[in-house]
Amino acid sequence: MKKVTLASLITVFIVFACQKNDGIKETPAEDVSSTSEVSGRQCAADEVLQKQIAEDPQRAAFLDELEKQTRLYNGRSASRLAGTLYLPVVVHIVHTNANIVTDLQIQSQIDVLNKDFNKTNSELANSGVYLAGYNLANVANCDIQFYLKQTVRKQTTVTSFGSNDAVKKSSSGGSDAVSSTTMLNLWVCDLSSGLLGYAQFPGGSSATDGVVVDYQAFGTSASYPMYAAFNLGRTATHEVGHWINLRHIWGDRRCGDDLVGDTPAHDGSNGGCPTTTHTSKCTGKPLEQWMNYMDYTDDRCMYMFSGGQKTRMDAAIDLSRKAYFSTTKI
Ligand SMILES: [Zn+2]
Repeated sequence: MKKVTLASLITVFIVFACQKNDGIKETPAEDVSSTSEVSGRQCAADEVLQKQIAEDPQRAAFLDELEKQTRLYNGRSASRLAGTLYLPVVVHIVHTNANIVTDLQIQSQIDVLNKDFNKTNSELANSGVYLAGYNLANVANCDIQFYLKQTVRKQTTVTSFGSNDAVKKSSSGGSDAVSSTTMLNLWVCDLSSGLLGYAQFPGGSSATDGVVVDYQAFGTSASYPMYAAFNLGRTATHEVGHWINLRHIWGDRRCGDDLVGDTPAHDGSNGGCPTTTHTSKCTGKPLEQWMNYMDYTDDRCMYMFSGGQKTRMDAAIDLSRKAYFSTTKI
C-alpha cells in the first residue's frame, strides 16, 4: 500500500513537473502583425529527446558523457579543425506532390544556412543591429559551409506527419535516411498541429538522425503559401543548431540552463518580435536575447548565434559529429 501511494505521489509530481516545465511561453509579440497561419514557433526537438531518453537509458548516458567532455573542451584551438568545415546535406521532399518544393527553393534554404552559420546574414550588416547588449564582434561565425549533396523526392499518400519519425521511414510513408552517419539528412514534409520542425541531438539512432522542417517554413520562397512569420528559412537554422547539440535558449524550463556561458537566462520562449527593452524576470533581470536562433521568435527577428554557442557546437562537432564534416567538399 505504501509502495502504491509513493508511486502515485511520484506520478503526480512528474505530471506536475511536466506541466510546469513544458510549453513555457512568454506573452508573445508586442508586435502582433506577425501572427500568421500558425500561432507561433513550435519545435519538438526537446520532446523527442525526452522520449528517446525514457525509452533507452543509454541515450541519457551518452549525453551525460558528451556533456562532461563538452565542459572540458577548450574551444576551437584545442581540436576542432581550423578553417571552414563543409557539411553535405541530403534533402528529402516527402509530400503528396513530391515536386511541390522546387530545386530553387531547396537551394534558397541552403543559402540561408550558409549565411546564418557564417555571420553573413543581412541583419548583422547593420552595425546598429539590436543584440540585447551582446557585442556584435562576439556574434559567432561558425565557419560551416552547407552544400546540397542529394535530393530525394518521395511521393507519399500520407498527408501530414508528426514528431514520431514516420517521415524518416519508407515503411510508414516517409523516406529512409541516406548515409546519415556522414551526411546531414533534412526531411521536408507537412507537419501536423502547427509543428514547424524538430531535430535529433547527437548520439541517437542513425536511422533517424537529422532534422525535419515543415514545407511551409522551408526556404525563402515557394509556389504555395508559406507561413508568413516563418518564410525566411530560420526554422532549419534553429533545427540544425539542435543537431549540433544546442539547446533552446531558455533551457526548456523557466530560467533554465542552455549549457552555454554567454547567453542570458530567459523566463521561457519568446514569440513574435519582442521589444528591444524586453528583460528577463530571472536572476539579474538581464535583457533577453530573443534574436538568438535558439529562441522561438519569428524568422525576421532571429539573427545570431553567440560565441559560446559556437564553442558548444565546435565541441559537438569534434566529439560526436566529426564524420559529417570535412575541409573540402566531398
Ligand atoms: Zn527547438
